[in-house]
Amino acid sequence: MPTDQPPEGAASADARPVLSFSAKRRGKAPSHLADLDLTERKRVLTEAGLPAFRADQLSRHYFRHFEADPAQMTDVPTSMVEDVRDTLMPSLVTAVRTLTADDGMTIKHLWQLYDGARVESVLMRYPNRTTLCISSQAGCGMACPFCATGQMGLTRNLSTAEIIEQVRLAAKACRDGELAGGPTRLTNIVFMGMGEPLANYRAITHSLRRMIDEPPAGFGLSARNITVSTVGLVPAIDKLAALGLPVTLAVSLHAPDDELRDELIPINSRWKVGELLDAARRYFVASGRRVSIEYALIKDMNDHPWRAQLLADELNARGKGWVHVNPIPLNPTPGSIWTASTARAQREFVDTLRRNGINTTIRDTRGSDIDGACGQLATTAAKEEGTTDE
Ligand code: SAH
Repeated sequence: MPTDQPPEGAASADARPVLSFSAKRRGKAPSHLADLDLTERKRVLTEAGLPAFRADQLSRHYFRHFEADPAQMTDVPTSMVEDVRDTLMPSLVTAVRTLTADDGMTIKHLWQLYDGARVESVLMRYPNRTTLCISSQAGCGMACPFCATGQMGLTRNLSTAEIIEQVRLAAKACRDGELAGGPTRLTNIVFMGMGEPLANYRAITHSLRRMIDEPPAGFGLSARNITVSTVGLVPAIDKLAALGLPVTLAVSLHAPDDELRDELIPINSRWKVGELLDAARRYFVASGRRVSIEYALIKDMNDHPWRAQLLADELNARGKGWVHVNPIPLNPTPGSIWTASTARAQREFVDTLRRNGINTTIRDTRGSDIDGACGQLATTAAKEEGTTDE
């Protein structure tokens, strides 16, 4: 059920008024502790005339206890609260809507940022992991025609702290038992919400550090449990490989041939399937992490057996056991001419890949009944509130 109230504990940090909505505004989010490493946090505090030792203390509150409101920190003197808020802990993210599905095992949030821009994140509990799907940009500039976010265009990049706030709020929701099944820990992160993460490279790599570094520098999540998903910005894939963090790379391929991929993924006009798969392979070699290939199965569009065979051939031509293919039935966006492949076509596609020795798992479609597909909740909310032209 849509609610207009933030869930308890989700965005209670502080409820300062959000600036008026201006989708085209491309300002910079206020600077926040989560933008900075520990040394930088100390420097900023010192420059503001606050004691440097507070950096560790505030960082522990934030990364260990998921607390972002200095007014709630009993060891921060009341007289210092406003200064701390202004220098390192402004409120960045406020819940606009909260939806649950899958008997409470999935929670989707629509967040409003300081300038009125909106992004989504989805928290999903599984038997042995809890995964958060996060946004890296408000909107997206990649214009993929089957993707709801792709239809919005790009509003702006998120700052590192705006990305990290999504993680903190999810970690807190897990701890506080907001998912069905009682309190748990956030274990996995996927950059599969709104936006193209590698088009916001700097903020993404900084946010990876904050996720991976041990408290009080960061959350101490395992790099192996973090997945960066991309349409295929080849130079950025190589840069990420050179960073040497063992995060998993997911490549949104959706077609094994340039003719079709040019249509489905406009950036394919810049980096072709062959170049992209070569870069994916280099990432595997550099990181030792098996690459995920994302493939939304669209009826009569990309689900032909010959395309499954071509995909297997392209992957096998570059080595064995280096990829895992994740077909996902298309989650049609409102007004889309495309629909999901039939169950039979899905089976045949998977069988062809497996027969050719390719690890393949159909990805689940958690939350599709709550506009789970990328960007759909933001679009629905904007329409209901009359903030789009449609
Ligand atoms: N920009 C990045 C990450 C965001 S999208 C990327 O493209 O990888 C996360 C995944 O959802 C991508 O694989 C994307 O292609 C897929 N996706 C987008 N819209 C979809 C839809 N309507 N149905 C199924 N998958 C979709």
